[in-house]
Amino acid sequence: MTRFTKITASIGPNCETREILTEMIKSGVNVCRLNFSHDTGNVQGAKIDLIRSVADKLNIPVAIMIDIQGPKHRIGDFETENHYPLKIGQKFILDSDPTPGNEHRVFLPDRDVMKSLNVGDRILLNDGKIELKVDAVFDDEIETTVVRGDEIWSRRGFNLPDTDVDTEILTTKDRADLEYAITKNPDFIAISFVQRAEDIAFVRDFIAQRTSHPIKIIAKIERPKAVERIADIAIAADGIMIARGDLAVELPFEQVPAVSRNIIRECRKLNRPVIMATQMLSSMVHSEFPTRAEISDVATAAYLRADSTMTSEETTIGDNPVNVIQTMDKILSYSDMDTITNPYDWSRLDNVPENDWSRSVSSMAYLNKAVAIVVFANDTESATQIACRRPDLPIIAVCGKDYIANQLSLVRGVFPIFDKYLFGERLAFESANKFGIGYGKLVIVDGDKISLRTLD
Ligand code: PGA
Ligand code: MN
Repeated sequence: MTRFTKITASIGPNCETREILTEMIKSGVNVCRLNFSHDTGNVQGAKIDLIRSVADKLNIPVAIMIDIQGPKHRIGDFETENHYPLKIGQKFILDSDPTPGNEHRVFLPDRDVMKSLNVGDRILLNDGKIELKVDAVFDDEIETTVVRGDEIWSRRGFNLPDTDVDTEILTTKDRADLEYAITKNPDFIAISFVQRAEDIAFVRDFIAQRTSHPIKIIAKIERPKAVERIADIAIAADGIMIARGDLAVELPFEQVPAVSRNIIRECRKLNRPVIMATQMLSSMVHSEFPTRAEISDVATAAYLRADSTMTSEETTIGDNPVNVIQTMDKILSYSDMDTITNPYDWSRLDNVPENDWSRSVSSMAYLNKAVAIVVFANDTESATQIACRRPDLPIIAVCGKDYIANQLSLVRGVFPIFDKYLFGERLAFESANKFGIGYGKLVIVDGDKISLRTLD
């Protein structure tokens, strides 16, 4: 069975051995995501080397994605108790006094946040269980009223759904992490809490000043401001992650499915791969089987033709990460094959002009009943663009460079092979066989040349 939707697996303490990574990659992992929120760069370096060595040994292209924490805002410490209950209706102050807080006030370390907040803005803590509403803004102090109460703990992160925060996209920690990460030539850098296209331009510049390796940038969409500016951000970035964890705190959660569908549609139109992320198989942290709702969530991502789904805690700290990947692979494979045999046309509409070349490739394959599309890839662009037309056929990308094969691992329906010896068409034909593609016609895309060949 052929799977078109790719699997991005978050790698953490429970899947960092050679044995487990080998089994996970054999079971279908296409992209390994390392979250730099939890560790500093140097600890992650050894993991990157291990993943590369496992993938090389298996001869399977696997991309490495470094996830940078970004400007996640945190409150300061509390006095002796470490936590306090906040009651509905009470006043609570965030100020610039670094001494430990109490039930009336706490330190707000981030000056940019203090300057950006406006009267009426919401401040959400504990995944939205605490809601503070800003009553008054002073130079050194924000006065709020508690609208929803819960225990408030030291150093908790908070979300600002209403605020356009005027802050740099990279914190001091992020800069250090990035400096280190790029020495390892990762395939993707994912950036958290992006708010605007300029954030991506800034990171791209930061990277370009330090390396000539073509690292792709993934914008994590987890703020309402980023949702509003999705087209500009997608154009500035090389790919998008729908980061539903923070997104469902910052947006009314019922809007997340609708927003996700729009983002997928927008990404296809703009030729950008898109990852559906967070809590896809959460119950499998401890359970052997997914819930019915999780099965449906993973399948929905395949039916919406996202490029990739993603695992989170279920692989990083789960009891059985290999089982999680096998489960995801099973659900995606079945749903992808169902899409092909039972086409359901609404998701094909993507506003791409009739004369677009990638659309012509797709139509040519369709009209000639081709069994696959072969792309000779000197960069990721042509294969990605054809894939974004969602031709529902395997796209075999014969890549002249290993990193191009790795980066194309993220893209829906693309089966990259690294052609070290420039075997060209011969290798493409052999690969078509390897991917279980029977006899039939192939559409071959080689630069500007598009031709039709019969596989025999
Ligand atoms: P995180 O991003 O795990 O780094 O917070 C994913 C999300 O917010 O969904
Ligand atoms: Mn997040």
